[in-house]
Amino acid sequence: MTSTSIGRKHRIVVIGSGFGGLFGTQALRKRDDVEITLVARTAQHLFQPLLYQVATGILSEGEIAPSTREILARQKNARVILGEVTGIDLEARTVTSRLLDRDTVTEYDSLLVSAGAGQSYFGNDHFAEHAPGMKSVDDALELRGRIFGAFELAELARTDEEARRALTFVVVGAGPTGVEMAGQIAELAGRTLKHDFRRIDPTQAHVLLLDAADTVLPSFGERLGGAARRRLTEMGVDVRTGSMVTDVDETGLTYRDGDGGTVRLEALTKIWAAGVQASPLGRQLAEQSGAETDRAGRVQVLPDLTLPGHPEVFVVGDMIALDDLPGVAQVAIQGARFAAREIESRLDGEPSQGEFHYRDKGSMATVSRFSAVASVGRLRFHGFLAWVLWLGVHLVYIIGFKNRVTTLLHWAVSFLGRGRAERVATEQQVFARRAIEQASRGVPDELKESG
Ligand SMILES: Cc1cc2nc3c(=O)[nH]c(=O)nc-3n(C[C@H](O)[C@H](O)[C@H](O)COP(=O)(O)OP(=O)(O)OC[C@H]3O[C@@H](n4cnc5c(N)ncnc54)[C@H](O)[C@@H]3O)c2cc1C
Repeated sequence: MTSTSIGRKHRIVVIGSGFGGLFGTQALRKRDDVEITLVARTAQHLFQPLLYQVATGILSEGEIAPSTREILARQKNARVILGEVTGIDLEARTVTSRLLDRDTVTEYDSLLVSAGAGQSYFGNDHFAEHAPGMKSVDDALELRGRIFGAFELAELARTDEEARRALTFVVVGAGPTGVEMAGQIAELAGRTLKHDFRRIDPTQAHVLLLDAADTVLPSFGERLGGAARRRLTEMGVDVRTGSMVTDVDETGLTYRDGDGGTVRLEALTKIWAAGVQASPLGRQLAEQSGAETDRAGRVQVLPDLTLPGHPEVFVVGDMIALDDLPGVAQVAIQGARFAAREIESRLDGEPSQGEFHYRDKGSMATVSRFSAVASVGRLRFHGFLAWVLWLGVHLVYIIGFKNRVTTLLHWAVSFLGRGRAERVATEQQVFARRAIEQASRGVPDELKESG
């Protein structure tokens, strides 16, 4: 076990290189009296809102996931450690992380936890095998392989039934991610792949969007949700709300419709965009501090984003349950900046800022090229104007000048033309997750050497 202990400066450990972790670290860039150690299990800062564009071949993974080390290269008070945080000891004030078989213990004076959330299958984790979620670069690349691969299998199908199953895509969850995915698959089939096959007609692909709730994009309100639904329907997406998925298997899924009837759908590609579960680190923090957690495992922090009895520990972003704050990037960014300012005030002997107040800057979701919905302050609008706003805001938040330029080029290829520049999918991307899962479950008996 390697133990790291850093000098006399105020030691800050940041967990996570997502929105909270990165923006919190950067907010402290001017302090030469602090030593920041950012611990994350991936070496990149992932811009999750554009994962669906990686999955559908518009952008490369590098464009939305630049190296954290490179972003922070000039910030001399910060260093990056790669590793999965396995333990936080609130009494000893240490964070233990693991990379391969190496454990590293890092001591802190202040801790900022922003480990985000993962996919939730609402207790049906076995669905994951056949319906990957959309939380990581791995997920997006696997989905890219599955989506483009489905068209290839359809081209080789021996029966109409087989071809129909291969060309049926089901997205579960009609929140922003589900709407964006369904819209993009419809555009992929109807525009990009239109002329690429000889036996099948990709425009005949059947894209379904299911949700147990009765509305599309419920967080955007009825009017914008209705507009998104109409646009999806115009594009040929089969939107079925009031549909609760009850089973998912290799060849399809089953759902219960609004009348209580059971419907079976034959579909090769299933995508899970419903439900989130906070990082398990939340429960660890709650158990040690006496804080409560909600059903999604989010920690009920105090109004200043700290843990009860531990003013030195801040928790931000998707991991917190506070005032019904949504799981969006701005909550993580503003929370992390608030925590950074609080740490600075303490170091400078200045009064506390008091409670954290979230400033809602609005939200947006794209439905198709040239069409989005946006809710900014009291304004609610949809269509082209919302899409232009979406374009601008996302470009601003993509990290790095290089990435902005290449993203803009890729968008021009896809939105002005028909093309998609990132259609590469390797076998590794499609099958690695299953292989890793099998390996971690142990070698099957039949493969073990006898005697
Ligand atoms: C597909 C998708 C689309 C989205 N679209 C939008 C959108 O359009 N607009 C919007 O505002 N929000 C959107 N969101 C939500 C937004 O991305 C999150 O709210 C935001 O990322 C939360 O920031 P965070 O810092 O809490 O967590 P994250 O950004 O998820 O960062 C968590 C970090 O912690 C690391 N980590 C986790 N566990 C450990 C561990 N045990 N040890 C070490 N490191 C760990 C992860 O690797 C990651 O670096 C979307 C999310 C998804 C998944």
